[in-house]
Amino acid sequence: MRRVIVRRSPVHGKGVFAMHALAAGERVLEYKGEITSWRNAVRRHQREGVEGHTFLFGLSDGRVIDGGRGGNSARWLNHACEPNCETIEDEGRIFIHTLRAIEPDEELFIEYLLSIDDSANEEVRAQYACRCKASGCCQSMLADAA
Ligand SMILES: [Zn+2]
Repeated sequence: MRRVIVRRSPVHGKGVFAMHALAAGERVLEYKGEITSWRNAVRRHQREGVEGHTFLFGLSDGRVIDGGRGGNSARWLNHACEPNCETIEDEGRIFIHTLRAIEPDEELFIEYLLSIDDSANEEVRAQYACRCKASGCCQSMLADAA
């Protein structure tokens, strides 16, 4: 059964929304895309435009999944500092699970926790500014932002 739909988000660009009520702990989506090095992915997206940056999902081995290449609707998941979904890495694949029950039509969020080599670079940091409205927002999608 189809669980989610992609449409315009009030937070940023497009977002992923629940089509019906979801239970806590439900596996909703796999984050698909080409697995490559962080360096390759950043270089590619610098050529193709800034927007592509947020299609990258970091794996624990330092590589990234590039949702801009062969990705699915999971690439439209927006970041939030208090997300309602979590990402679970299982043998090099990333799955999105709900952290709590989700209402129909609610937008799904994950915490990106991106770590980047060039985190000191202000221009790069600005591209990862967080727009979520959580009271505990740390203003950035980067894992080392605190
Ligand atoms: Zn935030």
